[in-house]
Order: sequence, then structure tokens, then C-alpha cells
Amino acid sequence: MIPAAGSGARLGAGLPKQYVEIAGRPLLHHALRALALHPRIEQVFVVLAQGDDRFRRFDWSDFGVRIKPLYCGGETRAASVFNGLLATRDVIAAADWVLVHDAARPCLERDEIDRLFGELDEDDTGGLLAVPAADTLKRANRESRVAATEPRENLWLAQTPQMFRYRLLIEALRAADPAVVTDEARAIEGMGLKPRLVMGDTRNIKVTFAEDLALAELILRSRQPPAVSRQRSTARTSREHSKGDGRKKSRKR
Ligand code: C5P
Repeated sequence: MIPAAGSGARLGAGLPKQYVEIAGRPLLHHALRALALHPRIEQVFVVLAQGDDRFRRFDWSDFGVRIKPLYCGGETRAASVFNGLLATRDVIAAADWVLVHDAARPCLERDEIDRLFGELDEDDTGGLLAVPAADTLKRANRESRVAATEPRENLWLAQTPQMFRYRLLIEALRAADPAVVTDEARAIEGMGLKPRLVMGDTRNIKVTFAEDLALAELILRSRQPPAVSRQRSTARTSREHSKGDGRKKSRKR
């Protein structure tokens, strides 16, 4: 489930951030990719603002029928996820796993999804991707002066996807105060449960401010092998193959 009904006001791009294009595609397209192409994920529901007229302007055909837009976004992220879960109650079973992933995280990779499945498949509660806090943490007062240094031991930064069973998640969100709940795990914690932290990747960044866009684009482009050098190395490999690469072979010996 991808909540994508936010306005992206902090980005200041003049359009909702899920539709801002980087590396030739809207942010939402990148955020969906690893999920929609994963063999264990049956369906990706995208929760859009009611009246969203942008989604249908883009080409989603890379993902076939696995993508389904739901025009039921709410006032807050938690409300959007809750509405999405309500809208899918006839197609998701109570014990099915649901992964909730921000449209604003375009750099998620297959490995991280596999880690979630690997560590949570048998878990009673579920959990989330997160990374240990690396920087020293300062609590500020109103004048932006340091009021305290927080020990960073055992502090993690929550990411998405967050993975919980359908029934537990919808009940947790129903009981939660949407103003307080900025991620699914917080709602589950409100039920007295302890979601498991699964090691994420610092490259799974959330795009919030304009400078995050440039960083996300760099990360995405670093994963695309440059077309020209790939062609050259393919040509060389096939030449070496047909002539026999004596140099390499003798090195091996
Ligand atoms: O605003 P923020 O970056 O926290 O949003 C996180 C995710 O929640 C984004 O994918 C955004 O589109 C989504 N969202 C939503 N409905 C809202 C607010 C945010 O689906 N009312």
C-alpha cells in the first residue's frame, strides 16, 4: 500500500512530490518499482487524493495489472493508509501481510524487501525497515540552542516499508490518533506491541526538501550502468570469447 495523497508542500515544487520527475520518471514510479516487480507481492494499491488527475497522465504499463489506484486519500498519512485498507477489505485477508511504503522513498531495492520477508515471515507482530542513528543527536530549545544531547545508543531512524498483518494494522489505525501517528509502527505500538526493527539502507532516503531530490537522483543514476560503457564491455567480452582470451587464461594458471 503506497500512501501518495500528500501535497508535498515542504518540497515547494508546485506539484505533489510523488509526481516530481527524477531520472526520467515520477518519484512514485521509482517508489513502486521494487515492490511491483517483487515475486511475492501480489498487488500494489496506490492511495491517491480524491480528485487526483495526474496519476492517469503517466505510463504505468511496466507493472501490468499489479498496480491499482484508489482515490480515497485522507487528511493525514495515517488516514490515507486507513482509507486504503478499508477500500481493500474484500480483497485482503485478515492474516495477509501488508507492506506500507511512502511514495516519497524512490530508492528502495529488492534486497531490503527480501530482508523484511526473511526476518518477519514468522513474526507475530511485524516490523519495519530502520537504520541506527549515526549522528550525535541534539534536542533544541525554542531559540535553536542545544537543550540536551540525547544518547544515540539504541536509537533507530524509521523507514518504510513497514510490514504488518492486515487485521492488526487496520485495528491499530482505527484506534490511533492520526495527528500523532506518523508511521504504521507507532499505531501498532499504541496497541502495546513491539514491532521488530529490520536493518534498512541509508540510501532508502525520504524526499522531503528540494535538496533531497538531487541526492535521490544521484542514487538512482548510480544504479543504472551507463549504456555506452556497457555496450563496449559486452563487445569486448564477446570478442574475447570468440578469439579465446589467452591473457586472462594464462593469468589464471
Ligand atoms: O508528508 P510526508 O512526506 O510525511 O508524506 C509521506 C507519505 O504519505 C507520502 O507518500 C505522501 O504522499 C503520503 N501522504 C498521504 N496522505 C496525506 C499526507 C501524506 O498519502 N494526507
